[in-house]
Amino acid sequence: MSEADSEPDVVIVGGGFAGVTAARELSMRGRSAVLVEARDRLGGRTYTADHDGHAMELGGTWVHPLQPHVWSEVDRYGVETETFPVLEGLRQAVVSDGRVVDLSDDDAAKALAAFDQFSAPGVTLFPEPFSETLGPDPQGLGDRSLREQLETLHVAPELRDWVEGMCCLIAFGPLDQSGATEVFRCYALAGYSAAQAMAALSATKLVKGTRELIRSIAGQATLADIRLNSPVRRVVQTDDGVRVELDSGEAIHAPTALIALPMNVLNSVEFEPRLSEIKRTASTDRHAGAGMKCYVRVKGDVGNVSMVAPESQAINYLVTYDHGADGSWLIVFSANPKRLPMTEFDDADGMQEALQLFLPGVEVERIVGWDWTNDPLALGTWCIYRPGQLAEVLPDLRTTEGRLFFAGSDSASTWRGFIDGAIESGCRSARHIDDYLTASGAAAQS
Ligand SMILES: Cc1cc2nc3c(=O)[nH]c(=O)nc-3n(C[C@H](O)[C@H](O)[C@H](O)COP(=O)(O)OP(=O)(O)OC[C@H]3O[C@@H](n4cnc5c(N)ncnc54)[C@H](O)[C@@H]3O)c2cc1C
Repeated sequence: MSEADSEPDVVIVGGGFAGVTAARELSMRGRSAVLVEARDRLGGRTYTADHDGHAMELGGTWVHPLQPHVWSEVDRYGVETETFPVLEGLRQAVVSDGRVVDLSDDDAAKALAAFDQFSAPGVTLFPEPFSETLGPDPQGLGDRSLREQLETLHVAPELRDWVEGMCCLIAFGPLDQSGATEVFRCYALAGYSAAQAMAALSATKLVKGTRELIRSIAGQATLADIRLNSPVRRVVQTDDGVRVELDSGEAIHAPTALIALPMNVLNSVEFEPRLSEIKRTASTDRHAGAGMKCYVRVKGDVGNVSMVAPESQAINYLVTYDHGADGSWLIVFSANPKRLPMTEFDDADGMQEALQLFLPGVEVERIVGWDWTNDPLALGTWCIYRPGQLAEVLPDLRTTEGRLFFAGSDSASTWRGFIDGAIESGCRSARHIDDYLTASGAAAQS
């Protein structure tokens, strides 16, 4: 096994927004790093891909000024943003009782009011949402699933189905396995307002894609050697540092390492000594996010539509991405892809069947997407804790173990599960590593 020539201050494992932000922050503090990323690109669960003349986001997409870390990066690099979906002429609808019900502006306002009602426990559970302080929880809401919380909502069926559909979109996993606190937290972070929460979750995107932002951040990681196509298989802590072993046989040694991997894949790297039991169990159990997002090309002009559907439906949200007489692109979200009548990820016939309820007669030509749940480097979509994981897993997931530090959106304090959370945790872990290196006498480069 060959050893790398010069020893960096830190080895960063994982080149998503968390790892790349940490690399830049360490550079700015005069600390050198080698960042090793298994894929042939940076960005991890964000992935801008070119199809049909569009920069399509196959993973993370929406950002918002209410998300302070990502918005500060957008501003810092002058990255252009746009409103999406386009609101002009937008037809809004919900599937209820097996049929499509169009929503007037008044209906849409009522649906938001129902979401306010549903999310009200967020006011007491997250009294200071941008701190880590949790409020009192005498009713044990922290252990409640979204399904259980939905059973407490008594509003008109269409409104309930809309709220349930939005829960599917936020959780992107089975509602009985997704913690209600995850929705309460987003609601609290958005100023205890359903309207603001919807805006934060799905109203603004980057014109040239998330890849422009991550490339900008990486461009300022001047003291980092970023290596793509470099899967890590083993991380060993020794008496004088950390040895990170790659699949290629190369080993990189440094005083510290930052593990910026998704929670669900932690167990696919061998750690010596083993990681804490809580981290290993969390990685085995996984978080609940396991949905399917894809772009679907259909014949003809379907107009500008936004449709929500409850969990009993195979599709829980669809929105027009682009439309014209030559054809339209839809973005389709399914929280439970096993409900889709599809034999494989790009099964156009199966998708066509699933779409009939929403857009009768629609003909599917093509599907573009990424199967995150079966991608061994992600093993899931965005992080949505299962009931009880918030209290049990979160504090441990980012706890330092010896010379190993941890970062990632899955363990962020505030907008966990979002690009914002990845950036937040990358900044924080870089500060902790710098403090550690200073305390252990390693001088920073000037
Ligand atoms: C379909 C989808 C839609 C989303 N929509 C939104 C949205 O609209 N807005 C939003 O803010 N967020 C969204 N998210 C969530 C957001 O994309 C993620 O929370 C965030 O990008 C995670 O960043 P990260 O750096 O923590 O992890 P990741 O991006 O997962 O980065 C981890 C990196 O580690 C690498 N890696 C894994 N194993 C190894 C190994 N053995 N060796 C070396 N490298 C390894 C991976 O390849 C990856 O690049 C979405 C996610 C998905 C999947």
